[in-house]
This record gives sequence, C-alpha cells and structure tokens, in this order.
Amino acid sequence: MKELDLSEFPPGTVTEYTTLVCLACIFDIFTKQIGLAPRSAYTEIKRYSPTVQELTSRTAVRPFFDSEEKHPRCPYCSAAKRWHARLDTHCIEGVKTTDVPRRKLSKNLKQDQFALLEVKSDRRKAFFDWLDTLRISLDLNDPAWLLEATRAYLERKFPKEHWTTLFEDLRAVRPSSRLEDGWERDGARLFLAPALYNESLLVQYLVSRSHEHGGRTLEGRLTLMELIRRLRRGGYLETHNISSGDQFEILDKLLDEIAGAGQLKLYYIVDRREFLDKVKSVYASYA
Ligand SMILES: [Zn+2]
Repeated sequence: MKELDLSEFPPGTVTEYTTLVCLACIFDIFTKQIGLAPRSAYTEIKRYSPTVQELTSRTAVRPFFDSEEKHPRCPYCSAAKRWHARLDTHCIEGVKTTDVPRRKLSKNLKQDQFALLEVKSDRRKAFFDWLDTLRISLDLNDPAWLLEATRAYLERKFPKEHWTTLFEDLRAVRPSSRLEDGWERDGARLFLAPALYNESLLVQYLVSRSHEHGGRTLEGRLTLMELIRRLRRGGYLETHNISSGDQFEILDKLLDEIAGAGQLKLYYIVDRREFLDKVKSVYASYA
C-alpha cells in the first residue's frame, strides 16, 4: 500500500499513531453481543469508524491492541495475525503552515479509504501531544537525547529553518549572552540566545520529568524550583511578565509561552485501507 506523502508538512506538525484492531473481536461483538447475522455485521463493520480516542490512546482497549511482535496474537481472543488490521492515524495541527499541504492532501484522498476527522482542541493540548510523541521517540538512556529534544523544539518553533544541517555533527548547545535572539553555529557548537536556550531547558525538563525525580536538562538535573530560579535569574520571567505565584502557577504561565495559548483545530486522517481489505478477506472465511 502506498504510504501517505507528508513531506510537505513542517516538522513537528504531524503526529502519527498506529494501532492494531482485531477483526475476530469485532465480528464477535457484532454477531454475539449485538446479535447481527454475519452478512449485516459485515456491512456494519465496513462502515465502522473508530473514534479519535480509540485510535490515539496510549493504552488500547478491546478490540484494539498494540504489539511490536512480528506475529502477534490478539490479547483478548488470541486470534492470529490474519485477523488483525493496522490502522494508521495522522494528526495534523491546524496552524498556518499546514493549511496548504493539508488541503492538497485531503483533496487527493479517496473518501472510503480514508476517514477525515476534525477535532476542536487548543495549543496546550497539541503541545503535550507533541511532547508525548517526542518522549516515545527518544532514548532517555542515551545522553544524545538532550540535543535531539532541543532540535525538535527548535524545529517546532522555527519550521522554516534547516535544522538538519545546523545539527549535523553537533557536539554541544550553549547559551550565548552575545545573542539577543536566534542562534549561531560555531564549529561543533550551536549557540542560542538565552531566552531560546531557557525554553529548550524547559522542554528537556518536561520530556524527562516523569522518567526520574526531577528533570534532566543540558544544565544537569533540575527540579522545577531550580529551573524557575534559573529562568528568573536570566530575566526570562520578567521579559514575559511572569511575576508572581507559586511554582505551579509560574509553570502554567511558562507553558503559555512555549505551547502558545488559544484554540486550535486538529485534523485526523485515518488510513482505513488495510482495515477494509482485511474485513473483506476475514468475512469470506467467516461466512
Ligand atoms: Zn481478538
């Protein structure tokens, strides 16, 4: 099956989810629990469109499951692989930079093969979805993750820049008080303006805070209190009018800075091609 071409979307604007669905379980639900005849069950199942929650949840429930194995068994009914279908979901953030490629893409999709779902959301949630996906893609036991997380944040914030080139053979990221904004590559080091550097520390902290006590950053392990103290010393809080409050109120305002505030639409594209194929072949053997 041809993969969707998502190369025109800026990095960090598309989140991918994949889940397996057990058709034996689905047929079972439709025929035994709901009591439909196989033929009607087949018609209903073809029309069946999972919810965003079912498609993107990190913990799957029946008839959905996740598996890294080559020949997995359904965890609920132990059906073999020919009963499983993969559902890939792409979530596109409804921001200015994705409008044109998104319209172009959805125009080219066959309606029965792909389901398009629009969900009202906000920037904060989109940011945490992004953070979640980033955390899964990183190996927090390999110190290189700190640079990768920094790059991912910069890509998200400045999608037009060529970060792959800027991070090639990079050894370190450092703050530079000479820079008022932006960045500068010097040899194997990338210098960031202090505010940008501090934001990247916050992202590193958020990525790693649930991994161990406190978070790990390019400045070593930091508690939230230490991170805030650092941002205050560097003038970040003052510049962004974050003055008072306890650490959690301050974190909340910091998140408005790096995640952005306000409404946002999320566009989900569900690839149903394998699902439809499998439903057909499974029904043939079922009926
Ligand atoms: Zn099953």
